[in-house]
Amino acid sequence: MQSLSDLLKHEKKRIAFVPTMGFLHKGHLSLMKEGLRHADYLVLSIFVNPAQFGPGEDLESYPRNFKKDADLVEKEGVNVIFAPDAKDIYPEHFQTYITLNDLPHHLCGISRPNHFRGVATIVTKLFNIVKPHTAIFGQKDFQQLAVIKQMVSDLNLDIEIIGAPIIREDDGLAMSSRNVYLSVDERQSALSLFKALNNSQKLLKSGETDASKIINEAVKLINSYKKTLIDYIAVCDPETLTDIKKIEKPVLMALAVKIGKTRLIDNMILN
Ligand code: AMP
Repeated sequence: MQSLSDLLKHEKKRIAFVPTMGFLHKGHLSLMKEGLRHADYLVLSIFVNPAQFGPGEDLESYPRNFKKDADLVEKEGVNVIFAPDAKDIYPEHFQTYITLNDLPHHLCGISRPNHFRGVATIVTKLFNIVKPHTAIFGQKDFQQLAVIKQMVSDLNLDIEIIGAPIIREDDGLAMSSRNVYLSVDERQSALSLFKALNNSQKLLKSGETDASKIINEAVKLINSYKKTLIDYIAVCDPETLTDIKKIEKPVLMALAVKIGKTRLIDNMILN
């Protein structure tokens, strides 16, 4: 992969990179389309990264279907799929990790303590392997995008990071590889995330600027659906991810909710 990238750069090609864990859906495809708007060569990676899963999480059961993914992206203009084995990425005695001081201590980082260490480490490794000019990440994982932008700035990585909007199903559910875990009933309850975000946007527009009141309404709405268990609902500064009490400028509302055994996340800028 490194030699190929060197060759492409020698030929003055611009390389766009979309890192994923596979089991691709239209959200992933939108990142690839965005990549091709900024480059003439597109690398997709598919790697279920063990370092970003905690004990008891779904590393083993995470959905995988390489053949289907490869078929799907054939007409999307992907030039190379980089799909390494975990033992090549993390050989025995691997011991170097990237950690950030502040951003991982909010939102998902609270219930997933080592998650962003795993994310920052694999993304750095993939950047060093693929050597892209630009990389595209979804705003669906808003905190991940913030972590990567911060890391790229802090470490002077010469890569342009582009954030792409959340792609949703027709009824509003944010697309996710994990949506396949949902039973018919759970799929209904999963809609509560987007409904709560929309309702919060409406409350703010009608003049409610007290974040705790907006969050309380979201809690009530989500709890009115079956099999929901809220991990967190936060209204925070979109850059620092610190909580905001009174909304006076655009804020990020982010939430994570377990629907049965499946943990889903979603977010929206409230303004
Ligand atoms: P994943 O395979 O879930 O690790 O996601 C790979 C990339 O796709 C990340 O940058 C995600 O933010 C992005 N992504 C996942 N779901 C969506 C979605 N529904 N809309 C836009 N981007 C997404």
